[in-house]
Amino acid sequence: MICPNCDGRARRSHHRGLLELAFKSISAYKPYRCADCGWRGWATHIKPVNRKEIVKSVIFWCAALIIALAIGVYAVVDLRSTLNPQPAPAVSK
Ligand SMILES: [Zn+2]
Repeated sequence: MICPNCDGRARRSHHRGLLELAFKSISAYKPYRCADCGWRGWATHIKPVNRKEIVKSVIFWCAALIIALAIGVYAVVDLRSTLNPQPAPAVSK
């Protein structure tokens, strides 16, 4: 990793205490230390997600949710009409 302070090479650092161990274990962030300038900080190797991909994903899941809701509403309406059939109109002679 490139050191954000001096552009030197920062290497993984050991955790300091249980709090850092817990944070390191549950997050993608890991501690780093620069041997050149002494900088110590947290960084992740996970690439930042492309904003276009996020928008595409949000649109996809919104459309899927709308379709699922429409199918659910249709199923409930259909079930109600099945359970409560409309009386047949009286035939007049
Ligand atoms: Zn540095």
